[in-house]
Amino acid sequence: MNNWLPKLRRLFPASQISTQPEALDTYGTDMWHAKKRPDVVFFPRKAQDVAKLLKFASHHKIPVTARGAGKGYVGGCVPEHAGIVVALEKMNRILEINFADGVAVVQPGVITGDLQKAVEKVGLFYPPDPASLKDCFMGGNVATNAGGPRCVKYGVTRHYVLGLQVALANGQLVRVGGRTHKNKSGFDLVGMFVGSEGLLGIVTEITVRLLPLPRSRAVFSAGFRTAAQAAAAVQNILASGFLPSALEVADKYTLQAARKYLGGELVPPGSACLIVEIDGQPASVRSEAKKLLSVIRRSGGLQIRSALNERDAEKIWDLRRGFSTSLKSTGLSKLNEDVTVPRGRLVDLFNFAGQLQKKYGLPVASFGHAGDGNIHVNIMVDLTKPGVKPKMRRALDDLFDQVLAWNGSITGEHGIGLAKLRWWKKAASPELRALHKTIKKALDPEGLLNPGKFV
Ligand SMILES: Cc1cc2nc3c(=O)[nH]c(=O)nc-3n(C[C@H](O)[C@H](O)[C@H](O)COP(=O)(O)OP(=O)(O)OC[C@H]3O[C@@H](n4cnc5c(N)ncnc54)[C@H](O)[C@@H]3O)c2cc1C
Repeated sequence: MNNWLPKLRRLFPASQISTQPEALDTYGTDMWHAKKRPDVVFFPRKAQDVAKLLKFASHHKIPVTARGAGKGYVGGCVPEHAGIVVALEKMNRILEINFADGVAVVQPGVITGDLQKAVEKVGLFYPPDPASLKDCFMGGNVATNAGGPRCVKYGVTRHYVLGLQVALANGQLVRVGGRTHKNKSGFDLVGMFVGSEGLLGIVTEITVRLLPLPRSRAVFSAGFRTAAQAAAAVQNILASGFLPSALEVADKYTLQAARKYLGGELVPPGSACLIVEIDGQPASVRSEAKKLLSVIRRSGGLQIRSALNERDAEKIWDLRRGFSTSLKSTGLSKLNEDVTVPRGRLVDLFNFAGQLQKKYGLPVASFGHAGDGNIHVNIMVDLTKPGVKPKMRRALDDLFDQVLAWNGSITGEHGIGLAKLRWWKKAASPELRALHKTIKKALDPEGLLNPGKFV
């Protein structure tokens, strides 16, 4: 290191800079297994701090990696080339909630679940609901274009971002988009920054669109004899004209783990299960609930549980939220691949996961957002066993090759980060990769923002 460190210390108060070994360790990881210590962790308090830091970094050619809550699953915020980690946790203020305009303005370090609670208090609704919402930050959600169960009806983070303030690599602050629900001035630069994984700029303020809060919901869980039958039920529900606010599926291995960990009472019988939620005004939810129940029954649903009040609804969601922990409780490591296939391929994906299990002798647990075709295919491995890693890599290669052959995507939610780097070349054509490079070069000519990632 770093003849630049004393100069950096002169620019900012000591409380905003850390080189403590524990901090370097903590801010060098996320929920994936990669680790890389930065040289420095920087804690901005306002957009101008980020801009000033980037100006300094660009002058000294120091790599800079933005970090939200570090709840990413792909090593996205791991500072692969060391340098400075910009930890946005102190920029955590909700700046405005405006009912009349249907917008909220937040700093990037606001926890997603906190924003949801705050807007619900005034009868508004921020739909994107990553399962990590109690911890992850709005800035991280923007940078990964986060999704969740409600996306089948309400869409992903991108569909709610109206405007951004972004600090560019050269230290310039720029506003893109605005606060109107429609806006067609110039290119869709909001769309360019959303999902850009910290490679094009650091988001310092976010304006999101809010909806009126639905007054009521009903949730159903049902077992099915096979995953194929559950996937067919998904199509029947949609074909009957329902657009559920969530449409989740889980396979046999997941349910077995849940029966062991959560107990039999919550988990429906059979080798697959569907969780379906509808929302709206109380009278329409009650009337739709009856019709939906009969569609689920006709599709082969076993032991259907209906929840028409909040307490019962939360019990069913406890089951869904418990899948991940149930799988972890098996003692195996869970390689969570958030692949997405065109929805018509759901049955094929479940069948393919079964074949992978047989071919490699590794358990595969699949569950997730059936309505979007976005299924978490979890290859379960005992990493202490000799020979398991090459097997696991071959199984992942097979999975991604097949998903791409179906015109699917290697990641629907988590992003490329470091974890999916190996498959980026397969997933994107040479022309598409060249276009990414052109955009990156225009905005970050020295390649200082989150280097070592997919562009
Ligand atoms: C239990 C669990 C459940 C999860 N469930 C879901 C789910 O349902 N749906 C889903 O989409 N994801 C899910 N995830 C993954 C993760 O929570 C999301 O990717 C989330 O958006 C990450 O937010 P973060 O604040 O933790 O970002 P980080 O992990 O800190 O960073 C993620 C990426 O964003 C960049 N970044 C962060 N802040 C900024 C900023 N202000 N400006 C520019 N770039 C920035 C980083 O450089 C990095 O590339 C889950 C994770 C866990 C642990």
